[in-house]
Amino acid sequence: MRLHGTQRINEQGHLEIGGCDTVNLAQEFGTPLYIMDEAHIREICRRYYQSFTQGLKNAEVIYASKAFSTMAMCRIINQEGLGLDVVSGGELYTALQADFPAERIYFHGNNKSAEELAMALKAGVGRIVVDNFYEMSLLNDLAQGMNQKANILLRVTPGIEAHTHEYIQTGQIDSKFGFTLSNGTADRALDLALSSANLVVKGVHAHIGSQIFELESFSHEVRVMIQYMADIYERTGSLLEELNLGGGFGIYYASGDEPAQIEDYAKIVRNALEDACEKHKFPIPKIIIEPGRSIVGTAGTTLYTIGSIKEIPGIRKYIAVDGGMADNPRPALYQARYEAVLANRAAEENAEEVSITGKCCESGDMLIWDINLPKVQSGDLLAVSCTGAYNYSMSSNYNRLPRPAAIFAEGGKADVIVKRENYSDLLRNDVLPERLAHLPMASR
Ligand SMILES: *Cc1c(COP(=O)(O)O)cnc(C)c1O
Repeated sequence: MRLHGTQRINEQGHLEIGGCDTVNLAQEFGTPLYIMDEAHIREICRRYYQSFTQGLKNAEVIYASKAFSTMAMCRIINQEGLGLDVVSGGELYTALQADFPAERIYFHGNNKSAEELAMALKAGVGRIVVDNFYEMSLLNDLAQGMNQKANILLRVTPGIEAHTHEYIQTGQIDSKFGFTLSNGTADRALDLALSSANLVVKGVHAHIGSQIFELESFSHEVRVMIQYMADIYERTGSLLEELNLGGGFGIYYASGDEPAQIEDYAKIVRNALEDACEKHKFPIPKIIIEPGRSIVGTAGTTLYTIGSIKEIPGIRKYIAVDGGMADNPRPALYQARYEAVLANRAAEENAEEVSITGKCCESGDMLIWDINLPKVQSGDLLAVSCTGAYNYSMSSNYNRLPRPAAIFAEGGKADVIVKRENYSDLLRNDVLPERLAHLPMASR
């Protein structure tokens, strides 16, 4: 397993994160456990801030909170000077409860409800990213009713196919998101927005996909979008000043993944921007980027306890952990790959090839196929790396498994940021109707 951030193997041969021995963390907090490396998150935020916010002069970095949304995370993002992107009333509520400044929040989504839009207007979020015609008229009416003007960006689908899993491609024409650029829909949307009394069009937005390794996808996006902004100016006379390029910067999960450096991402965006603006004689707009996965992904590690072991001679050895697709649905959803290490015997030589399965009632509940580990015993601790993004935020209570706790580990200290669910949490919203109040079997 490749080590990330502050991860290291200590003198006892245990995996350590944020100066905390993971064997102690398992004892103190139980497993499964989401361990977030706070210093690593902050370092990545700073690299983004330096290379974009400072490197491009007029730019803003917005954390896509759907990757990992908790109040403590919102606090860190605020402290590091980044903005926040939310895609639902729930994520907006989380941010507001953490006192995140509303004017630095961007609100996305392809089917925002009237309640969610009203909540955003009331809170005074900085930008609402309008995705479709239904939303545009809904928002204009709501803003009118509240005697407000809503600052919006228009989400367009630029027709760029980033090379990634098709479920996380979003820039291609056949997408559920945004106004299509190539067939004139985006032009119609813009004209309608410009003529809507309670909408102020600040700029345009595109998000071409996720887990993208090829930086050329982003420079292509910049060229297409600057051309579009120049066309808008020529056609309507309105000069849009903001270009939101979305997120999607890829990270390392397992061998074979070769992500670029954040600094090179910034450089390629800046060069493409300068060239395209020069070519179209268009003033350089404010650039906004929205990384989610690349801010928290490599900072998260999930710690499990190994239970049952099943060997089918000559075929496969299944090692089962006390979690699975309920806390990490990504392998089942996208065939995502992960690396792992035995946290309590991290310095030992690998001795066998095994496959890691979860405890959910699904044959697809596999976390890692064919991984080399030391000879595994029941009771060993397994640490799966790079689980910081889209794990806790995509977790479920399938099979009525309580969600794990999440902690920030930093400087030898560990703080709970999400409490472990217990059985009574699972029943929090269960209701027994009066007619089911009696225990005896119904007479037939
Ligand atoms: C999901 C999403 C992001 C973040 O994507 P990552 O791949 O996690 O960086 C940014 N912007 C929008 C609109 C998104 O939907």
